[in-house]
Amino acid sequence: MPPLPYPADSLEPVIDAETVILHHDRHFKKYVDDLNSQLCLTPPLQSWTLEELLTKALPLSGSQRQLVLTAAGGVYNHGLYFRSMVPGLPKGPGKQLSAAICRNFGDMESLQKQFVRYALSLVGSGWIWLCTDPSGHLRILCTGNQVTVLPTGLCPLFLMDVWEHAYYLKYQNVRQRYAENWFRVLNWEEAEKNYCRFVAR
Ligand code: MN
Repeated sequence: MPPLPYPADSLEPVIDAETVILHHDRHFKKYVDDLNSQLCLTPPLQSWTLEELLTKALPLSGSQRQLVLTAAGGVYNHGLYFRSMVPGLPKGPGKQLSAAICRNFGDMESLQKQFVRYALSLVGSGWIWLCTDPSGHLRILCTGNQVTVLPTGLCPLFLMDVWEHAYYLKYQNVRQRYAENWFRVLNWEEAEKNYCRFVAR
């Protein structure tokens, strides 16, 4: 279980401490526990990395395969989500990622607008991703439940949780306010690192 990378109240007022604690210590932990339970039943998979579990063919029956994929996806997604945020009015992206955002979206405001539009158009529970392909072309993707983008071969830069448990205590039904405010705690430094690591220059 990866520890929370910052104090629980440090994302306020964007995300309240109670939401952070429930989300990390209960929701995230449940996926870790579920994955461990599943792996206890399947010892050969215990040496696989999280990424391998999510991208390689699992030697399991249909329903058991789905249980492993959901649990592993929940672990991967929440890990990236909590790393995608950082307290203390984060600075914007660095040089490389800034240039990519301008090339692909025009400017930062257009990226944010499109990202929020994706968050609002997702029906039910899921995730909004900013990803890059190996040539540095950026794409916003949306997945339901605990599905990841890893099988596409794209590299995720950051990830917004739009399950209701991510915002409901503070924002109730107003997902738009959560999505717009989320950019104020976005960890651009981490996104830039992910971008530079993946894109061949
Ligand atoms: Mn969640």
